[in-house]
Amino acid sequence: MAKFCKECKEVIYGRSDKKFCDAACRNLYHNRLLKAQDNGVQHIQATIKNNRRILAYLYQNKAQTCVQKTTLEAMGYNFAFHTHEWRNGKSVCVFCLDYGLVMDQEALTIMPFTLP
Ligand SMILES: [Zn+2]
Repeated sequence: MAKFCKECKEVIYGRSDKKFCDAACRNLYHNRLLKAQDNGVQHIQATIKNNRRILAYLYQNKAQTCVQKTTLEAMGYNFAFHTHEWRNGKSVCVFCLDYGLVMDQEALTIMPFTLP
């Protein structure tokens, strides 16, 4: 039974465990996989960077002032992405690198802050 290259789909000749017709196809295949993985990471990094930019802007312009969750969302903040969080009792502090936000219990108002 013929086997086919995972990259170019041509018939493979040689060892029974070969997956690619040659090194060029093997490299193309793996480089494409790595690029797809990098694109996912780049999307996450870009989202966190955008969140941080929004928090930095709010902190510098309205330090110690609560902001409505809807305002953050309208600015493009994505609540699904952050770098880490602190929990202190019922309070949750969510960070995007060095800028963070404190959510009230209903997570409707948010106070931006930065690490000292
Ligand atoms: Zn091939």
